[in-house]
Amino acid sequence: MTMTAAIAHPLPKAPFEGRHLIDGTWQGSADGATFDRISPSHGIVVSRSARGGVAETEAAITAARRAFDLGTWSRATGKERSTLLLKVADLIEANVERMALLETLESGKPISQARGEVAGAADLWRYAAALARTLHGDSHNSLGEDMLAVVLKEPIGVVSVITPWNFPFWILSQKLPFALAAGCTCVIKPSEMTPSTTVMLGELLIEAGLPSGVVNIVLGFGQPVGALMAEHPHVDMVSFTGSTAVGKAISAAASKTLKKVALELGGKNPQVVFPDADLDAAADAITFGVYFNAGECCNSGSRIIVHEDIAEALVEKVVALSRKVAFGDPLNPETQVGAIISEAHQQKIAAYVRDAMASGAKLALGGEAVRHPGLPGEFFGPTVVTHVTADMPIAREEVFGPVLSVLTFRTLEEAISLVNDASYGLSAGVWSENMHTCLAFARRAEAGTVWTNTWMDGFPEVAFGGFKQSGQGRENGRYGLDEFLEIKSVVMRIGKTRPNWVRD
Ligand code: NAD
Repeated sequence: MTMTAAIAHPLPKAPFEGRHLIDGTWQGSADGATFDRISPSHGIVVSRSARGGVAETEAAITAARRAFDLGTWSRATGKERSTLLLKVADLIEANVERMALLETLESGKPISQARGEVAGAADLWRYAAALARTLHGDSHNSLGEDMLAVVLKEPIGVVSVITPWNFPFWILSQKLPFALAAGCTCVIKPSEMTPSTTVMLGELLIEAGLPSGVVNIVLGFGQPVGALMAEHPHVDMVSFTGSTAVGKAISAAASKTLKKVALELGGKNPQVVFPDADLDAAADAITFGVYFNAGECCNSGSRIIVHEDIAEALVEKVVALSRKVAFGDPLNPETQVGAIISEAHQQKIAAYVRDAMASGAKLALGGEAVRHPGLPGEFFGPTVVTHVTADMPIAREEVFGPVLSVLTFRTLEEAISLVNDASYGLSAGVWSENMHTCLAFARRAEAGTVWTNTWMDGFPEVAFGGFKQSGQGRENGRYGLDEFLEIKSVVMRIGKTRPNWVRD
């Protein structure tokens, strides 16, 4: 690990003031309640947000329902929807700097990464605009001379969108433009840790001309805001990204009205390295995969399963690369890994490492919190844990920190069974120069995404989501739009050819 210096980046003079967006109007909470977000890296109050309760959530859902039923957006043409989404993409690009600064200060992620995520999110809006323009159903013209059927795709209705803190703006942009492209109306609740870029997006939506009530934002906590958004009878679907535990609670709440639920949850993502792999390429991608976003990433490549013949050599390479990764002040553009989201989370990460050591694992690097000389915040050093066995919590649960667990295997069968011996199934990777090995792995890994000889490459065009307890439903690609659509079959008779059922 190298440590980047704290830099004299101008910090905001006052906290960003976040209010709810309900039916086109910015408003505080009826009881005046607010909550502060203190920067995990800089210790300043970054934002002060209205704290929503039942009244604000009810009002937002009512506004979204009314807007949907009114039809201004839900029955707008694809061209109209697409035009607006493209405008929003342009506005996002014009505001990258402002949004990236708040995203960084609230989440602790490096500014260069935050800039990339906000600018990259604009591309998701553009891709969704293309889907809005090309959305169509199906036709059946071979059911008989007197029959014609069409399958219509209609917006599902009012969608509750609930997002986490680790990629606040990116994840919102994997959901909202797709829901809007479909013609849905939405109520959004961002994480209480990172509410501000969602509020900024609300401002951009208004500037772009989105009709009132189509997108509503309620700021606040899981209780009562998120819970009510999940169970409310006037909501037709919940689109959630977050932990598996909360995903299960949302699924249970939504089941009362059998509303549709799309869930993007946790992961314990393995990368399997075979002896014929390009070890330098694998080591670099493994290093990236585990430290990106300080490991606070559903796609964190936190579980390496390496052939025992090359385990020592690979670990040596990863440790050497880990020493070069630039940890430090998130506002320094040179920084690659920033602060941990909270002190409580920092302690949770440390506990996983301690527990693994107590069970016989060994530390090849790190293992503890590090202090930054110029900053008050929470940092965890790059950590590589070897001699991990499949039964240890560090090998099975999300650590959500810059901590790599290394397990070994001898045969493809053994590697596959270690990969699939997990409650999660988000992503998996394989490193081998033999395409047959890669293909065999790709077909048998129980994961929503399989990377071969790469890690974490993603595109708006390519579906993303999890098997097993990593979630249900898909984001991105055409599948990302389909999630927000209902299917309606219209069966038509041509001419009066229907024979009477009742006999004369
Ligand atoms: P979290 O589950 O604690 O919170 C997510 C959101 O749910 C927040 O907005 C929170 O306020 C809200 N919430 C909490 N309790 C609720 C309830 N009972 N009803 C409704 N809403 C409630 O998750 P987090 O700590 O913010 O994020 C980290 C988790 O997210 C990790 O598990 C990570 O793997 C997962 N994640 C998954 C993906 C993916 O695409 N699969 C992407 C990013 C993060």
